[in-house]
Parts: sequence; structure tokens; C-alpha cells
Amino acid sequence: MEWGIINTENFKDIYEVPIKRWDPLSTVKITSEDFGVRSGRTRYYGHYSYISPIRGERPKGFKTIEEEKEFFDCSKEILKKHKDVFSSVIEGKQVYDDGGIPIGDVYTMIITQDEIRRDKPFSEKPHRIERIPEANKALTLINRYPSMARIVDPDIEKYVKDNLPSHLKLSRGINLVTISRHFYPSLCFNLIPEEALSGIFLSMKAAILYCIEEAIDKDYYDIPVMPFFNIGRKAGGSQPRIHSQTYIDLNMDGHGSRLEGYLEAFKEMGDNCHLCQTTHGDTDRIILKSEFWTFYNTGSPVRNYHIRFHPNEHLRRFSQLKINQIEELAYSLKVIFQALDDIEIDKNRNILFNCCPYGYDANFHLFADIIPHETIGGAEMADDMRVARKLPHIAAKEIRETLKKYLQ
Ligand SMILES: [Zn+2]
Repeated sequence: MEWGIINTENFKDIYEVPIKRWDPLSTVKITSEDFGVRSGRTRYYGHYSYISPIRGERPKGFKTIEEEKEFFDCSKEILKKHKDVFSSVIEGKQVYDDGGIPIGDVYTMIITQDEIRRDKPFSEKPHRIERIPEANKALTLINRYPSMARIVDPDIEKYVKDNLPSHLKLSRGINLVTISRHFYPSLCFNLIPEEALSGIFLSMKAAILYCIEEAIDKDYYDIPVMPFFNIGRKAGGSQPRIHSQTYIDLNMDGHGSRLEGYLEAFKEMGDNCHLCQTTHGDTDRIILKSEFWTFYNTGSPVRNYHIRFHPNEHLRRFSQLKINQIEELAYSLKVIFQALDDIEIDKNRNILFNCCPYGYDANFHLFADIIPHETIGGAEMADDMRVARKLPHIAAKEIRETLKKYLQ
């Protein structure tokens, strides 16, 4: 099941495949044509889980707590410590750790090298690694440990369908991981050159477009796409190297309740898009407004210091971002992360891009969230709710004042 491939050689059991399951107590049928209703296929929104046994086999990037702590220290020294699970893929040869144990794969599947298309998104064969030129900025790979199956042998697919209980389904989709060509620890976000970060965004964008094109060619449609960064182990990042991921869900069975909320809200706004028109609390919650982007502390934070940002242009998807928007985003994220470090906000953070699914005829304004890690309590798990202690306009003031010295 590695690389999302299920075939006669690796198939063992119906429960050894990635599964998608909708929670019957929080799942509702989609009835709006804007949000993907089509005759002949039932769609849902609500809570779902991807259950993927292969995820447990992911290599761990940090062996000890001490080793992880090294990556909190963002001195330049850390850049030399560059042997990680992706080193072999970059160097084109098997890399060994200090104890002589091989780390990383000697096989890979590269969707985009910078923006250049390489392996086909539905390719069935990982190939030998090869050295990636130093001039490259980023690589987008098929995730070896995905939560969805990309390619399934048709006979096995039928067998799984016939034998899995009816409320469970084999989960289909593509999981991408985008890494920087050179090693930068994700916890030292401010050390990453802007070009490297732009390179990651550009490679992601090219890979998403390639995957969507090929998926449509295979008669998939109405496709939710979720690009995100897990920065630091506590935010779900199992590797120290800066990397992003993209989940491309090809189940054609709907979307989650959070996305439904966004879709409904934008629908209600109609032509009066909130993000195009708002001043975000009369400007006192705005952290940074530049030519192409607006960053602000959201008035209803999911965590203390939760930052939301959006392109000033009314775009629906990450993949519509243009080069000048991407370059300015890389610069802005770097300075904002530096400001968050300066005021000692937890370095474990997620960046989540909220996009309109491909194929939906819905109004949407692309936006993203920066969510610093925090432990949450029971009340917050019981509903789509958070108890925060920091007033957003005060958080914004702190960040704004810290930012001043970095802005040209
Ligand atoms: Zn808008």
C-alpha cells in the first residue's frame, strides 16, 4: 500500500487498506448544486475520518527529545545537520545516519521538480532516486505513507467493495508532500530563504494542477484540495525539514462540515464578499496589509494568536495564485513567523489553506490560517468552538509592533 498503490502483490486484507468513514451522527446529504450535488451520486457534508494503517509506518524524524530540541535553536549551525529521511531522494544515493544505518528511500515518485512535471500522478512505479540539481528549490513527491489510495487494482477494488461493511469505503485520493531542495528546519522558519519558500509554493501549485488535470482525465470530478504545512512535531510534522502536504480527495462523496460552513457563508454573502470588503474590526486587528495580501488576527480565534490571511484579489483556490502573489506571501510569512518567535509564541504551528473544491460552482475567497500549537480541552472538542484568553486586537498590536523592525 506504499505510495498509495494497492495491487495483487501487496494486498493482504480488506482492513489493510485506507478507509473513509462518514460519522452517521454528523453527516447530512448535500442538496445544493453549487456544492456538488449531481444525479446518480449521493454526496455528504459532515465529519469523516480517514483510517489508514500505513500511516503508522512513517519514519520518525526525531529520535529523542534532545534531538528535537536542537531544532528549536535556530542558529546557522543547524543548517549543517542535514541528514534526514529526504536526503537520499535529494542526493540521489542512499544516505546513512551517524550510526551507519540507512535513512530514507532509494525509490521515489516526483510529480514536480520545481514547476517541471515529472512522473505522472497516477504512475504505478516508483523509480530509483537521482541527484536533484542544487539550483532547484523544491520537489513535490507522492507521499509514501498516504491516507488515501491512488491506484487500486480493479479486481481488488471490487473484492474490497463486496466485503467491507457498507458504511466503510476504500478511500481514494492523492497525498503530496513538497520539500525544499536544501535542508531548512521547519521550526526555524525565519532561516528559510524567501526563494526556497516561494519554490515550495510554486512546486505545490504546479503539482496540484497536474494532479487535477490527470484526475479529470480519469473521470474524477468535484475534488476537494487541502494544502497545509505541519511545522514542528506537536503540529503533526514528523520530519524536521520544511515541507508542505496536499490532500487531494478523489472519493467524490462530498466535503467536511468546516468547509460546508465556509461555502454556505460565502453563498450568503453573494456579491458582498466579506474578505473583499471588511476592515477586520476597523483595522485594529490587521497585522500586515501589503499590495497582494492581508494578514489579521481573527476575531473568533481557534487558538490564541490565530492569524488569518487572504489574497486581496478574490481568488477561489491556492492554484490560482500568481508569481508576484506567491513571492510576497513567502516574504510576509517569514517576517510574521519571526515576529511570533520574538514574542515567544509556540514554534509548532500549522498553516492551512482553505480552498473551493474543483468542480464546485460556488463563490469562495481563498483564505488561510496560521494556528500556533496549544493543548485544547474537552469543551472545545465537543463543538466547533474554542475558549481563547487573548483578545485578538491586543494580539494584533503585539505582533504589529514586533513586525515594525523587519518591514522594509
Ligand atoms: Zn472576496
